[in-house]
Amino acid sequence: MPESPSAAPTLLLSGARLADGRAVDVRIGGQDIEAVGTAGSLTTRGTRLDLRGYLLLPAPAEPHAHADTALTATVGGPRSHRPGDVRRRATEAALLQLGHGATALRAHVSVGGAHGLGALEGVLAARRSLRGLTDLTAVAVPRLLTGAAGADGLAVLRDALEMGAGVIGGSPGLDPDPAGWTEAALDLAATHDRPVDLHTDGDDPAQLARLATMADGLRPGLCLSPCAGLSRLPGDQVTRTADRLAAAAVTVVCLPQGGCSGARLRGTPPVRLLRAAGVRVAAGSGALRDSSNPVGRGDPLEAAYLLASQQGLSPEHAYDTVAGAARAALGLPRVRVEAGFPAELLAVRGDGLAGALSLAYSRIVVHRGRVVARTSAVREYRDSGAAAAALGLPQQGRADSGSGGGP
Ligand SMILES: [Zn+2]
Repeated sequence: MPESPSAAPTLLLSGARLADGRAVDVRIGGQDIEAVGTAGSLTTRGTRLDLRGYLLLPAPAEPHAHADTALTATVGGPRSHRPGDVRRRATEAALLQLGHGATALRAHVSVGGAHGLGALEGVLAARRSLRGLTDLTAVAVPRLLTGAAGADGLAVLRDALEMGAGVIGGSPGLDPDPAGWTEAALDLAATHDRPVDLHTDGDDPAQLARLATMADGLRPGLCLSPCAGLSRLPGDQVTRTADRLAAAAVTVVCLPQGGCSGARLRGTPPVRLLRAAGVRVAAGSGALRDSSNPVGRGDPLEAAYLLASQQGLSPEHAYDTVAGAARAALGLPRVRVEAGFPAELLAVRGDGLAGALSLAYSRIVVHRGRVVARTSAVREYRDSGAAAAALGLPQQGRADSGSGGGP
């Protein structure tokens, strides 16, 4: 029997259902998928994990979190920016999001002002302590970049990149000279070869057109978020703006779960129109229990659920905004459940994508080839015999046993 080339231990995910309906075994060697075969056909030199009753998907990625403000909604008094406090909160938030399935996370962090680089220091410490569990990238978010205060802002931003911030962020609209701000940020991005990820409400077509022109040709690309204002523009303006964003390969990262502290306005841009125009659209979770959304969940499946239920995206397209498109927005390699692709996977209880977006409490998360998080939910009815009878099932056994059952 042909075996895998190396003798290193492997992880076998057996009997999982794929989104296309096939039941398969998936063998993982190192950090990659080594082989995918019909259920029952593959062997392992290591651990075997029974995934019968689970749907196996490429793992989501979180393209828009706020690591320095996460989990501060219930903290009394002013929010602490001490590095140790920020590190604890950012770590807890990233672990919550990892439990939901996000194995990569882009997190915005304010830099400059009275707090200097303290919050960034805390988030970068969290990134180090999370290594092997999840990949966290920090976005440095300066405020002013023009005028007298702008010189300080630029100096702090350079320091932030030196320290380890991987992306340049911010809101051009908060500077007295938005065009000057954008030029300064994109210049620095080009010099340091860093991606740019900006906050904008998207209700000013002229500003978006300017951003698209300035970002055209910028490699790596530009993300704009949350762009809720696009939904309030007249139809012809939205269409023209969408065409320009598509031509400049700009990614719109929408935040269907309620926005974030960097956004003035809430809501979701017209995702179907943007996608039809060829705009890359990803979805993030935004605020995670900070003052701008005290009930934020940070759950990518909820973002996908909202796009499916409120904007009419198919379950496949909705899931792509939090998985394939989100990974692409972060510059990460593509994931498919096929040999040779990175083993970044999410298994959810159920047998189809629509069901998984409807209800998915039980999840198993694989990052770099290892199981890194596991959530199990058990539902029991007071009278399981009556529940089984109501379903027309034999009276012995639990109502939620077997494939496709249970949350
Ligand atoms: Zn934000």
